[in-house]
Amino acid sequence: MDHQQEHALQEIADRGIRFVRLWFTDVAGMLKSVAVDPGELEDAFTEGIGFDGSSIEGLTRVQESDMLLRPDARTFQVLPWRGPDDPVARMFCDVLTPDGHQALSDPRGVLERTVGRAADMGFTVVVHPEIEFYLFDRPVTPDHVAPIDNAGYFDHTARGDSNDFRRRAVRMLEDMDIAVEFSHHEAGPGQNEIDLRAVDVVTAADNIMTARTVIEEVALREDIVASFMPKPFIDQPGSGMHTHLSLFEGGENAFYDASGQYQLSATGRHFIAGLLEHARAICAITNQNVNSYKRLWGGGEAPSFVCWGHNNRSALVRVPLYKPTKRQSARIEYRALDPAANPYLAFSVLIAAGLDGIERRLDLEPEAEDNVWDLSERERRVLGIEPLPGSLEEAVEAMRESDLVAETLGEEVFDFVLRDHEKEWREYQEQITPQEIRRFLKVN
Ligand code: GLN
Ligand code: MG
Ligand code: MG
Ligand code: MG
Repeated sequence: MDHQQEHALQEIADRGIRFVRLWFTDVAGMLKSVAVDPGELEDAFTEGIGFDGSSIEGLTRVQESDMLLRPDARTFQVLPWRGPDDPVARMFCDVLTPDGHQALSDPRGVLERTVGRAADMGFTVVVHPEIEFYLFDRPVTPDHVAPIDNAGYFDHTARGDSNDFRRRAVRMLEDMDIAVEFSHHEAGPGQNEIDLRAVDVVTAADNIMTARTVIEEVALREDIVASFMPKPFIDQPGSGMHTHLSLFEGGENAFYDASGQYQLSATGRHFIAGLLEHARAICAITNQNVNSYKRLWGGGEAPSFVCWGHNNRSALVRVPLYKPTKRQSARIEYRALDPAANPYLAFSVLIAAGLDGIERRLDLEPEAEDNVWDLSERERRVLGIEPLPGSLEEAVEAMRESDLVAETLGEEVFDFVLRDHEKEWREYQEQITPQEIRRFLKVN
Protein backbone atom coordinates (compact mmCIF):
# COMPACT_ATOMS: atom_id res chain seq x y z
CA MET A 1 0.00 0.00 0.00
CA ASP A 2 1.16 3.51 -0.70
CA HIS A 3 1.19 6.52 1.58
CA GLN A 4 -2.23 7.83 0.42
CA GLN A 5 -3.88 4.48 1.00
CA GLU A 6 -2.40 4.23 4.50
CA HIS A 7 -3.58 7.76 5.21
CA ALA A 8 -7.16 6.84 4.16
CA LEU A 9 -7.17 3.77 6.42
CA GLN A 10 -5.78 5.81 9.31
CA GLU A 11 -8.51 8.46 8.89
CA ILE A 12 -11.15 5.74 8.84
CA ALA A 13 -9.81 4.30 12.10
CA ASP A 14 -9.35 7.71 13.80
CA ARG A 15 -12.82 9.01 12.93
CA GLY A 16 -14.66 5.74 13.47
CA ILE A 17 -15.95 5.65 9.88
CA ARG A 18 -18.12 2.57 9.35
CA PHE A 19 -19.11 3.05 5.70
CA VAL A 20 -16.99 4.01 2.75
CA ARG A 21 -18.77 4.86 -0.47
CA LEU A 22 -17.05 3.85 -3.69
CA TRP A 23 -17.99 6.31 -6.44
CA PHE A 24 -17.77 5.89 -10.19
CA THR A 25 -19.57 7.31 -13.21
CA ASP A 26 -21.54 5.51 -15.90
CA VAL A 27 -21.23 6.36 -19.58
CA ALA A 28 -24.36 8.52 -19.43
CA GLY A 29 -22.64 10.65 -16.76
CA MET A 30 -24.59 9.52 -13.70
CA LEU A 31 -22.77 9.05 -10.41
CA LYS A 32 -22.88 5.48 -9.07
CA SER A 33 -22.09 4.45 -5.54
CA VAL A 34 -21.65 1.32 -3.46
CA ALA A 35 -20.97 1.31 0.29
CA VAL A 36 -18.30 -1.04 1.61
CA ASP A 37 -17.17 -2.07 5.02
CA PRO A 38 -13.77 -0.49 5.79
CA GLY A 39 -12.41 -4.00 6.41
CA GLU A 40 -12.61 -4.60 2.64
CA LEU A 41 -10.48 -1.63 1.68
CA GLU A 42 -7.01 -3.11 1.89
CA ASP A 43 -8.08 -5.71 -0.68
CA ALA A 44 -9.90 -3.06 -2.71
CA PHE A 45 -6.73 -0.97 -3.01
CA THR A 46 -4.67 -3.89 -4.24
CA GLU A 47 -7.04 -6.10 -6.23
CA GLY A 48 -10.28 -4.13 -6.45
CA ILE A 49 -13.74 -5.06 -5.18
CA GLY A 50 -16.02 -7.15 -7.40
CA PHE A 51 -19.43 -5.97 -8.54
CA ASP A 52 -21.97 -6.87 -11.21
CA GLY A 53 -21.62 -4.24 -13.91
CA SER A 54 -24.37 -5.56 -16.16
CA SER A 55 -27.04 -3.12 -15.01
CA ILE A 56 -24.84 -0.02 -15.20
CA GLU A 57 -25.52 2.16 -18.26
CA GLY A 58 -22.97 1.38 -20.94
CA LEU A 59 -20.49 -0.24 -18.59
CA THR A 60 -20.41 -3.84 -19.79
CA ARG A 61 -22.01 -6.32 -22.07
CA VAL A 62 -24.07 -8.86 -20.15
CA GLN A 63 -21.71 -11.74 -20.92
CA GLU A 64 -18.82 -9.95 -19.24
CA SER A 65 -20.60 -8.39 -16.32
CA ASP A 66 -18.15 -9.10 -13.50
CA MET A 67 -16.16 -5.95 -12.89
CA LEU A 68 -13.83 -4.60 -10.22
CA LEU A 69 -13.73 -1.21 -8.51
CA ARG A 70 -10.34 0.04 -7.38
CA PRO A 71 -10.58 3.15 -5.19
CA ASP A 72 -8.24 6.07 -5.84
CA ALA A 73 -7.02 6.90 -2.31
CA ARG A 74 -6.08 10.44 -3.34
CA THR A 75 -9.81 11.17 -3.54
CA PHE A 76 -10.60 10.07 0.02
CA GLN A 77 -12.96 12.61 1.65
CA VAL A 78 -15.52 12.55 4.43
CA LEU A 79 -19.02 13.52 3.20
CA PRO A 80 -19.84 16.79 5.00
CA TRP A 81 -23.63 16.49 4.61
CA ARG A 82 -23.66 13.33 6.71
CA GLY A 83 -22.55 15.18 9.86
CA PRO A 84 -19.95 14.08 12.42
CA ASP A 85 -21.98 11.50 14.37
CA ASP A 86 -21.93 8.62 11.95
CA PRO A 87 -19.31 9.74 9.41
CA VAL A 88 -19.26 8.37 5.88
CA ALA A 89 -16.37 8.79 3.45
CA ARG A 90 -16.06 8.46 -0.32
CA MET A 91 -13.41 7.65 -2.89
CA PHE A 92 -13.62 7.78 -6.68
CA CYS A 93 -12.75 4.48 -8.32
CA ASP A 94 -11.26 3.15 -11.49
CA VAL A 95 -13.30 0.35 -13.05
CA LEU A 96 -11.29 -2.76 -13.95
CA THR A 97 -12.06 -5.98 -15.77
CA PRO A 98 -11.61 -9.24 -13.80
CA ASP A 99 -8.10 -9.64 -15.23
CA GLY A 100 -7.13 -6.28 -13.75
CA HIS A 101 -7.16 -4.12 -16.89
CA GLN A 102 -8.78 -0.71 -17.03
CA ALA A 103 -12.34 -1.32 -18.30
CA LEU A 104 -12.74 0.18 -21.77
CA SER A 105 -16.15 1.52 -20.80
CA ASP A 106 -15.06 3.47 -17.70
CA PRO A 107 -15.38 7.21 -18.47
CA ARG A 108 -12.72 8.07 -15.88
CA GLY A 109 -10.45 5.56 -17.62
CA VAL A 110 -11.16 7.22 -20.99
CA LEU A 111 -10.02 10.54 -19.52
CA GLU A 112 -6.95 8.97 -17.91
CA ARG A 113 -5.97 7.49 -21.28
CA THR A 114 -6.42 10.89 -22.95
CA VAL A 115 -4.35 12.56 -20.22
CA GLY A 116 -1.68 9.93 -20.92
CA ARG A 117 -1.64 11.00 -24.57
CA ALA A 118 -1.18 14.62 -23.54
CA ALA A 119 1.64 13.52 -21.21
CA ASP A 120 3.35 11.72 -24.11
CA MET A 121 3.41 15.09 -25.87
CA GLY A 122 4.86 16.69 -22.74
CA PHE A 123 1.68 18.37 -21.47
CA THR A 124 -0.41 18.36 -18.32
CA VAL A 125 -3.96 19.67 -18.68
CA VAL A 126 -5.45 22.17 -16.25
CA VAL A 127 -9.19 22.92 -16.13
CA HIS A 128 -11.43 25.42 -14.39
CA PRO A 129 -15.17 24.86 -14.88
CA GLU A 130 -18.01 27.38 -14.37
CA ILE A 131 -21.04 25.40 -13.26
CA GLU A 132 -24.45 27.03 -13.86
CA PHE A 133 -27.70 25.64 -12.48
CA TYR A 134 -31.27 26.64 -11.63
CA LEU A 135 -33.02 26.41 -8.26
CA PHE A 136 -36.76 25.72 -8.26
CA ASP A 137 -39.47 25.62 -5.62
CA ARG A 138 -41.03 22.24 -4.93
CA PRO A 139 -42.91 20.57 -6.42
CA VAL A 140 -41.58 20.62 -9.98
CA THR A 141 -44.00 19.18 -12.55
CA PRO A 142 -44.21 19.60 -16.35
CA ASP A 143 -46.79 22.37 -15.77
CA HIS A 144 -45.10 24.00 -12.80
CA VAL A 145 -41.45 25.01 -12.92
CA ALA A 146 -41.02 27.99 -10.56
CA PRO A 147 -37.60 29.56 -9.87
CA ILE A 148 -36.93 30.31 -6.20
CA ASP A 149 -36.29 34.04 -6.84
CA ASN A 150 -36.54 36.79 -9.41
CA ALA A 151 -32.97 38.03 -9.23
CA GLY A 152 -30.51 38.56 -12.09
CA TYR A 153 -26.80 38.60 -12.92
CA PHE A 154 -24.61 39.27 -9.87
CA ASP A 155 -27.69 40.51 -7.96
CA HIS A 156 -27.43 40.59 -4.24
CA THR A 157 -30.95 39.56 -3.30
CA ALA A 158 -32.60 40.90 -0.17
CA ARG A 159 -34.43 37.70 0.63
CA GLY A 160 -31.14 35.99 -0.01
CA ASP A 161 -32.25 32.39 -0.56
CA SER A 162 -29.75 31.97 -3.38
CA ASN A 163 -26.99 33.61 -1.31
CA ASP A 164 -27.61 31.20 1.55
CA PHE A 165 -27.74 28.30 -0.85
CA ARG A 166 -24.45 29.18 -2.48
CA ARG A 167 -22.73 29.76 0.85
CA ARG A 168 -23.80 26.34 2.11
CA ALA A 169 -22.76 24.61 -1.08
CA VAL A 170 -19.39 26.38 -1.21
CA ARG A 171 -18.67 25.51 2.46
CA MET A 172 -19.39 21.85 1.79
CA LEU A 173 -17.18 21.84 -1.29
CA GLU A 174 -14.36 23.43 0.67
CA ASP A 175 -14.83 20.86 3.45
CA MET A 176 -14.09 18.30 0.73
CA ASP A 177 -10.93 20.11 -0.37
CA ILE A 178 -12.55 21.52 -3.50
CA ALA A 179 -11.57 25.18 -3.83
CA VAL A 180 -14.20 27.56 -5.21
CA GLU A 181 -13.05 30.64 -7.04
CA PHE A 182 -16.35 32.52 -7.48
CA SER A 183 -20.02 32.02 -6.87
CA HIS A 184 -22.79 34.39 -7.89
CA HIS A 185 -26.36 34.74 -9.04
CA GLU A 186 -26.65 34.22 -12.81
CA ALA A 187 -28.86 36.09 -15.27
CA GLY A 188 -31.96 33.89 -15.07
CA PRO A 189 -34.41 33.90 -12.11
CA GLY A 190 -33.24 31.28 -9.62
CA GLN A 191 -30.11 30.69 -11.72
CA ASN A 192 -26.74 30.45 -9.97
CA GLU A 193 -23.13 29.72 -10.77
CA ILE A 194 -20.27 28.14 -8.86
CA ASP A 195 -16.77 28.28 -10.39
CA LEU A 196 -14.19 25.73 -9.25
CA ARG A 197 -10.54 26.66 -9.06
CA ALA A 198 -8.22 25.35 -11.80
CA VAL A 199 -6.80 21.86 -11.10
CA ASP A 200 -5.57 18.91 -13.17
CA VAL A 201 -8.27 17.68 -15.51
CA VAL A 202 -9.07 14.32 -13.84
CA THR A 203 -9.50 16.05 -10.49
CA ALA A 204 -11.62 18.72 -12.22
CA ALA A 205 -13.97 16.04 -13.59
CA ASP A 206 -14.14 14.34 -10.16
CA ASN A 207 -14.87 17.75 -8.61
CA ILE A 208 -17.75 18.38 -11.02
CA MET A 209 -19.33 15.04 -10.09
CA THR A 210 -18.92 15.98 -6.41
CA ALA A 211 -20.22 19.52 -6.95
CA ARG A 212 -23.39 18.26 -8.65
CA THR A 213 -23.95 15.93 -5.71
CA VAL A 214 -23.29 18.66 -3.13
CA ILE A 215 -25.65 21.06 -4.93
CA GLU A 216 -28.37 18.39 -4.97
CA GLU A 217 -27.78 17.56 -1.28
CA VAL A 218 -28.04 21.21 -0.22
CA ALA A 219 -31.21 21.62 -2.32
CA LEU A 220 -32.73 18.58 -0.64
CA ARG A 221 -32.00 20.05 2.77
CA GLU A 222 -33.59 23.38 1.79
CA ASP A 223 -36.60 21.57 0.34
CA ILE A 224 -35.99 22.99 -3.15
CA VAL A 225 -34.89 21.42 -6.44
CA ALA A 226 -31.51 22.04 -8.11
CA SER A 227 -31.30 21.33 -11.84
CA PHE A 228 -28.48 21.13 -14.39
CA MET A 229 -30.99 20.99 -17.24
CA PRO A 230 -29.41 23.03 -20.05
CA LYS A 231 -32.52 25.05 -21.01
CA PRO A 232 -35.51 24.93 -18.66
CA PHE A 233 -37.19 28.11 -20.05
CA ILE A 234 -37.35 29.34 -23.66
CA ASP A 235 -37.28 32.99 -22.61
CA GLN A 236 -34.47 32.77 -20.03
CA PRO A 237 -30.77 31.96 -20.41
CA GLY A 238 -29.80 28.31 -20.28
CA SER A 239 -27.25 26.73 -17.97
CA GLY A 240 -23.83 26.20 -19.48
CA MET A 241 -20.56 24.90 -18.12
CA HIS A 242 -17.92 27.15 -19.65
CA THR A 243 -14.62 25.30 -19.41
CA HIS A 244 -11.28 27.08 -19.11
CA LEU A 245 -8.40 24.94 -20.37
CA SER A 246 -4.65 25.33 -20.42
CA LEU A 247 -1.68 23.09 -21.07
CA PHE A 248 1.42 23.14 -18.91
CA GLU A 249 4.83 22.01 -20.07
CA GLY A 250 7.37 21.44 -17.30
CA GLY A 251 5.56 23.81 -14.93
CA GLU A 252 5.24 26.56 -17.56
CA ASN A 253 1.97 27.59 -19.18
CA ALA A 254 2.32 26.45 -22.80
CA PHE A 255 -0.49 28.80 -23.91
CA TYR A 256 1.42 31.93 -22.85
CA ASP A 257 3.62 33.97 -25.12
CA ALA A 258 4.20 37.60 -24.15
CA SER A 259 4.66 38.57 -27.80
CA GLY A 260 1.66 36.66 -29.21
CA GLN A 261 -1.72 38.19 -30.04
CA TYR A 262 -3.62 38.26 -26.70
CA GLN A 263 -0.44 36.74 -25.19
CA LEU A 264 -1.46 33.46 -26.79
CA SER A 265 1.33 31.10 -27.88
CA ALA A 266 1.49 29.16 -31.15
CA THR A 267 0.58 26.04 -29.14
CA GLY A 268 -2.51 27.83 -27.85
CA ARG A 269 -3.48 28.89 -31.38
CA HIS A 270 -3.12 25.33 -32.72
CA PHE A 271 -5.14 24.03 -29.76
CA ILE A 272 -8.02 26.42 -30.58
CA ALA A 273 -7.79 25.51 -34.27
CA GLY A 274 -8.20 21.84 -33.28
CA LEU A 275 -11.23 22.64 -31.12
CA LEU A 276 -12.86 24.52 -34.01
CA GLU A 277 -12.01 21.75 -36.51
CA HIS A 278 -13.74 19.11 -34.37
CA ALA A 279 -16.41 21.27 -32.68
CA ARG A 280 -19.30 19.77 -34.66
CA ALA A 281 -18.07 16.19 -34.19
CA ILE A 282 -17.61 16.46 -30.41
CA CYS A 283 -20.89 18.28 -29.81
CA ALA A 284 -22.87 15.09 -29.05
CA ILE A 285 -20.45 14.60 -26.12
CA THR A 286 -20.19 18.19 -24.87
CA ASN A 287 -23.95 18.67 -25.31
CA GLN A 288 -25.49 15.25 -24.95
CA ASN A 289 -29.22 15.82 -24.58
CA VAL A 290 -32.11 16.87 -26.82
CA ASN A 291 -32.54 19.83 -24.49
CA SER A 292 -28.86 20.89 -24.88
CA TYR A 293 -29.66 22.15 -28.40
CA LYS A 294 -32.50 24.35 -27.11
CA ARG A 295 -29.79 26.15 -25.13
CA LEU A 296 -27.28 26.37 -27.98
CA TRP A 297 -29.94 27.85 -30.29
CA GLY A 298 -31.93 29.79 -27.70
CA GLY A 299 -29.73 32.89 -27.25
CA GLY A 300 -28.87 33.96 -23.71
CA GLU A 301 -25.12 34.10 -24.52
CA ALA A 302 -24.90 30.45 -25.51
CA PRO A 303 -22.70 29.88 -28.59
CA SER A 304 -24.33 28.75 -31.85
CA PHE A 305 -21.45 29.14 -34.32
CA VAL A 306 -17.96 27.68 -34.67
CA CYS A 307 -15.59 30.62 -34.23
CA TRP A 308 -13.26 32.18 -31.70
CA GLY A 309 -12.68 35.66 -30.31
CA HIS A 310 -11.15 37.38 -27.32
CA ASN A 311 -13.90 39.55 -25.95
CA ASN A 312 -16.72 38.15 -28.00
CA ARG A 313 -19.30 36.30 -25.97
CA SER A 314 -21.01 35.00 -29.08
CA ALA A 315 -17.87 32.98 -29.92
CA LEU A 316 -17.55 29.26 -29.18
CA VAL A 317 -13.96 29.66 -27.97
CA ARG A 318 -12.86 32.77 -26.14
CA VAL A 319 -9.41 33.89 -25.05
CA PRO A 320 -10.16 35.64 -21.75
CA LEU A 321 -8.06 38.64 -20.91
CA TYR A 322 -8.87 39.30 -17.28
CA LYS A 323 -5.22 39.41 -16.21
CA PRO A 324 -3.22 39.65 -19.42
CA THR A 325 0.15 39.86 -17.71
CA LYS A 326 -0.30 36.72 -15.67
CA ARG A 327 1.56 33.94 -17.39
CA GLN A 328 0.07 31.09 -15.37
CA SER A 329 -3.53 32.16 -15.99
CA ALA A 330 -3.28 32.20 -19.81
CA ARG A 331 -6.07 29.93 -21.02
CA ILE A 332 -8.87 29.41 -23.46
CA GLU A 333 -12.58 29.15 -22.64
CA TYR A 334 -14.81 26.62 -24.41
CA ARG A 335 -18.39 27.86 -24.08
CA ALA A 336 -20.58 25.13 -25.60
CA LEU A 337 -20.35 22.57 -22.80
CA ASP A 338 -23.35 22.24 -20.52
CA PRO A 339 -23.53 20.95 -16.94
CA ALA A 340 -25.55 17.85 -17.91
CA ALA A 341 -22.58 16.43 -19.85
CA ASN A 342 -20.42 13.56 -18.65
CA PRO A 343 -17.37 15.64 -17.64
CA TYR A 344 -14.88 12.79 -18.11
CA LEU A 345 -15.96 12.17 -21.70
CA ALA A 346 -16.44 15.86 -22.51
CA PHE A 347 -12.95 16.80 -21.30
CA SER A 348 -11.50 13.81 -23.18
CA VAL A 349 -12.87 14.95 -26.54
CA LEU A 350 -11.93 18.59 -25.91
CA ILE A 351 -8.33 17.61 -25.12
CA ALA A 352 -8.15 15.22 -28.06
CA ALA A 353 -9.44 17.91 -30.45
CA GLY A 354 -6.95 20.47 -29.16
CA LEU A 355 -4.01 18.05 -29.26
CA ASP A 356 -4.92 17.13 -32.83
CA GLY A 357 -4.66 20.83 -33.70
CA ILE A 358 -1.18 20.91 -32.13
CA GLU A 359 -0.02 17.70 -33.82
CA ARG A 360 -1.22 18.79 -37.25
CA ARG A 361 -0.13 22.39 -36.60
CA LEU A 362 -3.55 23.57 -37.77
CA ASP A 363 -3.74 27.24 -38.68
CA LEU A 364 -6.12 29.45 -36.77
CA GLU A 365 -8.44 31.55 -38.93
CA PRO A 366 -8.81 35.21 -37.91
CA GLU A 367 -11.03 35.81 -34.90
CA ALA A 368 -14.70 36.74 -35.24
CA GLU A 369 -14.92 40.42 -34.38
CA ASP A 370 -18.65 40.92 -34.64
CA ASN A 371 -21.50 39.49 -32.75
CA VAL A 372 -21.90 36.48 -35.04
CA TRP A 373 -25.64 36.24 -34.33
CA ASP A 374 -26.10 39.64 -36.00
CA LEU A 375 -24.46 38.56 -39.25
CA SER A 376 -26.57 37.21 -42.08
CA GLU A 377 -26.32 33.58 -43.14
CA ARG A 378 -24.43 34.74 -46.25
CA GLU A 379 -21.98 36.90 -44.30
CA ARG A 380 -21.21 33.99 -42.02
CA ARG A 381 -20.65 31.72 -45.01
CA VAL A 382 -18.26 34.23 -46.57
CA LEU A 383 -16.32 34.31 -43.28
CA GLY A 384 -16.32 30.50 -43.16
CA ILE A 385 -18.24 30.43 -39.88
CA GLU A 386 -20.14 27.15 -39.56
CA PRO A 387 -23.11 26.55 -37.27
CA LEU A 388 -22.94 24.07 -34.39
CA PRO A 389 -25.33 21.12 -34.87
CA GLY A 390 -28.94 22.26 -34.68
CA SER A 391 -30.19 19.20 -32.83
CA LEU A 392 -29.04 16.06 -31.08
CA GLU A 393 -29.78 14.19 -34.30
CA GLU A 394 -27.41 16.42 -36.31
CA ALA A 395 -24.78 16.12 -33.60
CA VAL A 396 -25.01 12.32 -33.68
CA GLU A 397 -24.54 12.37 -37.45
CA ALA A 398 -21.44 14.54 -37.13
CA MET A 399 -20.01 12.32 -34.39
CA ARG A 400 -20.63 9.10 -36.33
CA GLU A 401 -18.19 10.30 -39.02
CA SER A 402 -15.44 11.24 -36.57
CA ASP A 403 -12.35 9.05 -36.26
CA LEU A 404 -11.06 11.38 -33.56
CA VAL A 405 -14.10 10.82 -31.33
CA ALA A 406 -14.10 7.07 -32.00
CA GLU A 407 -10.41 6.76 -31.11
CA THR A 408 -10.70 8.94 -28.04
CA LEU A 409 -13.74 7.23 -26.55
CA GLY A 410 -12.83 3.74 -27.71
CA GLU A 411 -15.19 1.56 -29.70
CA GLU A 412 -17.42 0.46 -26.78
CA VAL A 413 -18.16 3.92 -25.41
CA PHE A 414 -18.48 5.38 -28.92
CA ASP A 415 -21.11 2.76 -29.90
CA PHE A 416 -22.96 3.06 -26.63
CA VAL A 417 -23.19 6.85 -26.86
CA LEU A 418 -24.45 6.73 -30.45
CA ARG A 419 -27.14 4.17 -29.59
CA ASP A 420 -28.13 5.99 -26.42
CA HIS A 421 -28.46 9.36 -28.19
CA GLU A 422 -30.37 7.84 -31.12
CA LYS A 423 -32.83 6.41 -28.62
CA GLU A 424 -33.21 9.77 -26.86
CA TRP A 425 -33.80 11.47 -30.22
CA ARG A 426 -36.40 8.87 -31.29
CA GLU A 427 -38.32 9.22 -28.03
CA TYR A 428 -38.31 12.98 -28.47
CA GLN A 429 -39.43 12.79 -32.09
CA GLU A 430 -42.35 10.54 -31.19
CA GLN A 431 -43.93 13.25 -29.03
CA ILE A 432 -46.95 15.20 -30.12
CA THR A 433 -46.26 18.52 -28.45
CA PRO A 434 -48.66 21.15 -27.01
CA GLN A 435 -47.35 23.49 -29.73
CA GLU A 436 -48.64 21.14 -32.45
CA ILE A 437 -51.99 20.75 -30.73
CA ARG A 438 -52.30 24.54 -30.47
CA ARG A 439 -51.29 25.05 -34.08
CA PHE A 440 -53.54 22.44 -35.65
CA LEU A 441 -56.48 22.27 -33.32
CA LYS A 442 -56.61 26.04 -32.83
CA VAL A 443 -56.97 25.66 -29.08
CA ASN A 444 -56.42 28.85 -27.07
N1 GLN B 1 -25.77 31.02 -19.28
C1 GLN B 1 -24.95 31.27 -20.44
C2 GLN B 1 -24.77 29.98 -21.24
O1 GLN B 1 -25.67 29.27 -21.38
C3 GLN B 1 -23.61 31.87 -20.06
C4 GLN B 1 -23.71 33.23 -19.43
C5 GLN B 1 -22.40 33.72 -18.89
O2 GLN B 1 -21.82 33.11 -18.00
N2 GLN B 1 -21.87 34.77 -19.39
O3 GLN B 1 -23.72 29.65 -21.74
MG1 MG C 1 -18.77 32.88 -15.13
MG1 MG D 1 -22.04 32.27 -16.16
MG1 MG E 1 -17.40 32.19 -18.74
